[in-house]
Amino acid sequence: VCVNRCKQCPGDAVSVVKLPTNLTTNTTHRYGPNSFKLHGLPVPRPGHVLGLLGSNGTGKSTCLDILSGKLKPNLGNIDDNPPDWASIITHYRGSDLQKYFQGIVQDNLTVAVKPQLETGLVKRLQGKQVRALLEARDERGRMDEYVKELELEHLMDRQVEELSGGELQRFATACVLGRDASVYMFDEVTSFLDIKQRLKVSKLIRALVHESPEKYVIVVEHDLAILDAMSDYVQCLYGSPGAYGVVTGRSRVRNGINQFLAGYIPADNMRFRDHELTFKVASSDLLPEREEGVALEAADSPKTGIFEYPAMSYTRGEEAGFTLHVEAGALREGECVVLMGENGTGKTTFMEMLAGNLQDQSTDSLASFGVSYKRQGLYPKLRRFQGNVRALLETKINAALSDRLFRLLVLKPLSMDRIQDLPVASLSGGEMQRLAITLCLGQPAQFYLIDEPSAGLDCEQRVNAAKVMKRWVVNHLGKTLLLVEHDFVMASAMADRVVVYEGNPGVECTARAPTGVAESFNRFLKILDVTFRRDPTNFRPRVNKKGSRIDKEQRANGDYYKLV
Ligand code: ADP
Ligand code: ADP
Ligand code: MG
Ligand code: MG
Repeated sequence: VCVNRCKQCPGDAVSVVKLPTNLTTNTTHRYGPNSFKLHGLPVPRPGHVLGLLGSNGTGKSTCLDILSGKLKPNLGNIDDNPPDWASIITHYRGSDLQKYFQGIVQDNLTVAVKPQLETGLVKRLQGKQVRALLEARDERGRMDEYVKELELEHLMDRQVEELSGGELQRFATACVLGRDASVYMFDEVTSFLDIKQRLKVSKLIRALVHESPEKYVIVVEHDLAILDAMSDYVQCLYGSPGAYGVVTGRSRVRNGINQFLAGYIPADNMRFRDHELTFKVASSDLLPEREEGVALEAADSPKTGIFEYPAMSYTRGEEAGFTLHVEAGALREGECVVLMGENGTGKTTFMEMLAGNLQDQSTDSLASFGVSYKRQGLYPKLRRFQGNVRALLETKINAALSDRLFRLLVLKPLSMDRIQDLPVASLSGGEMQRLAITLCLGQPAQFYLIDEPSAGLDCEQRVNAAKVMKRWVVNHLGKTLLLVEHDFVMASAMADRVVVYEGNPGVECTARAPTGVAESFNRFLKILDVTFRRDPTNFRPRVNKKGSRIDKEQRANGDYYKLV
């Protein structure tokens, strides 16, 4: 039942969740008996960027495998004689896919794919040098430009297995951009990238179709602001993760994303989620930040605890290491502070400082107040745990497990019950992330430090996790939540105040004092040289096209981030 009576629902009647009716007939591919089933396919168009949006496990990568010719769709026929390409092309007779598949089969459409990083890319390219690999893919004489734009110059003599997540992502992207293909596919191209790099990559991908209107481009993306900026059209995938996925028809990018957030596809009269995802502005965002100093003695609530920290500096590594300067600031009880900055500006360093984890810690830390800290990354230590998820939860946060509200507000929405019997070592990236967030929230503490919680999560899980973190730490416990977040839509939904990082990444940077959302985002977006407005339907931030009327207007007013 539509609990929200959202605007997209037909009429004013509460509509009923309707299951797709074509699940027996319109099958595109089925992996095997009782295996995942895909219904429908995205339909790429030359000269346009097609964005795919959908939850993990609903078949986005399967779609790319089919459209790249790597996987021959069996049209649901898993018995003895699956169809050959000729009958598949006949099956799509009359649709744009007929011509597309003809091109793929007859080899006059060449395909270049940037796969998801989890798919063993490093293993395949192990021992090879970045420079040699990029040179081999420089089919359009553009690689020098891509190397520069994607900041790969200092990595050219490294081997692939030495690259960090973000470096590997940029390298893999350059490999594909350099190719002279007819079809380009990018599967989850922004994970591990900061917002500046995300905007850069989306610009380079858009340029592919601008420069050559006969090219096809398909992207799979969970960061809504980037998907929005990058695509012309969107097709959504919904369904039951691991069981089936349905591809919706093509919509203009704004409508497509809004339909996904609404959980309702008007063309099919199909409601696939019982609630709407929105990003309303808190009314406090609209108030100007109080003067520094005044804020500290603010009379808003005598119970509100405040932790002040002095200006401090810290240098990592030997001489010529990285130096972080931190402006004096204050953290309040019952607020969420988001740290925003490019990679290498010291966000993690700041968290380590506050957690008191640095060797030769000469700076103030919050450790004596009680800190629960979720690190960034892939959790190699957790992965070595021998046992299933339930055993790990019982070892680490047994007390929280018996708290009814913790089960209701954290365990349930993060779907821990669905993975509790799985061995920890076997979890996917997104499952591991949700487990790590759960472990962090389950510790009693005054400060919750959470570094990059949305890595590995799909769009819906991000919204979910954001709600869980804020509701538990800020609303329920009344404690302080510090968060590193690159997904701008999520950051703006979560933040009560923001710390902006400025300076020369990897060399010397400054963490500004926490300030109000409008002021901080303005400062940050000015550094990035981009303006954002909000969608009137669900209030999600949208990137303005550079040079558009709105963009010029906002720049002239100094409104890089327009709240309403
Ligand atoms: P997404 O990219 O949207 O996360 P995928 O297309 O990767 O989804 O996978 C959809 C579902 O298909 C998953 O549940 C996955 O387990 C299943 N699947 C993927 N590849 C295979 C395969 N080769 N054999 C059987 N099942 C598979
Ligand atoms: P962010 O989290 O903003 O990406 P980090 O705090 O992780 O940034 O890192 C900031 C800089 O400090 C980076 O250039 C990184 O290479 C450097 N750095 C991190 N850890 C160390 C270390 N142990 N020794 C020397 N340099 C380090
Ligand atoms: Mg995938
Ligand atoms: Mg970091």
